[in-house]
Amino acid sequence: MGEERIDDYEAFLARRRGQLLERIAQAARVAGRNPDEVTLLAVSKTVGPEEVALAWSAGYRAFGENRPQELTRKLTALASNPELRGMRFDMIGNLQKNKINQVLGNAHLIHSVSSEHLAQAISKRAEARGIVAPILLEVNVSGEASKSGFSPDEARVAAEGIAALPGLQVQGVMAMAPAHDADEARRTFSGLRELRDELRQRTGLALDVLSCGMSDDFQIAVEEGSTLVRLGRTVFDPAYVLA
Ligand SMILES: *Cc1c(COP(=O)(O)O)cnc(C)c1O
Repeated sequence: MGEERIDDYEAFLARRRGQLLERIAQAARVAGRNPDEVTLLAVSKTVGPEEVALAWSAGYRAFGENRPQELTRKLTALASNPELRGMRFDMIGNLQKNKINQVLGNAHLIHSVSSEHLAQAISKRAEARGIVAPILLEVNVSGEASKSGFSPDEARVAAEGIAALPGLQVQGVMAMAPAHDADEARRTFSGLRELRDELRQRTGLALDVLSCGMSDDFQIAVEEGSTLVRLGRTVFDPAYVLA
C-alpha cells in the first residue's frame, strides 16, 4: 500500500471501530447489559500482517484466524514488534489434529473444539507441554448440515468428561447462526445461551464466554448475551455497509 492509502485505510479502521463499539454498546443497553462484557475480536483471515498492525493502531487488540498456518504466520510477523505487545490471536476455524501443535501456546483461545476426540487430543498435547489450553466448545445450535460442532445433545453428554480433561480449561461455548435470517440468528444465540446455562450446571464451570455474532448479526448476538463477537468484513472491508 502507498502511504496515502495506508493513512486512508487506518482512518477507515478507526472510524469503523468507533461505529462498531457504538452499536455493541447500544445492543448491550437494550439488553440491560454492561458493554464492557463484550470483546470485539477482529477476524483478520482476509488481510495480511500489515493490515493487522494498522488495526492495532486503530485500537483493536484481539484478532481471530481460521487457519493455523495463518495464525502462526501473522503472530511470527508481528509478535517481535515490542509496540504490539499484548496482541492476541484466537483460533476460530476448523482445527485438524495434526495442526494442534501449531496452535497450542500461540492461540490465546481456541473457539472451535468441535468433538470429544479433538478435545482429548488437544488436552493430551497440552499436558505433554505442561500447559493448559483455554478452549470453547463449538456447538451447532441451528442443526445445519454444513456447520461443524457438537449437537446440543452431544455437548450435554460430553461436557462433564471434557471439563475433567487436565490439559483444557473450558471457558465457554461458540456458535454460528444461519446466514441472512435475523429470527433464526436470534434463536441460535438464545439457544446457545440456554445450553451454556445447562452445561454450567452439569460441569460446575463458569463458562463465561459466549462466542457468537459476526458482521451480519452481532447486534442480535449482543442482545442475546454474547461476550465475544467475531467480526471480519465489517472491520476490514470498506465496501461492507454497516447496518
Ligand atoms: C470469517 C469468520 C468470522 C467473521 O465473519 P464476517 O461475516 O466476515 O464478520 C467469524 N467467525 C468465524 C468462525 C469465521 O470463519
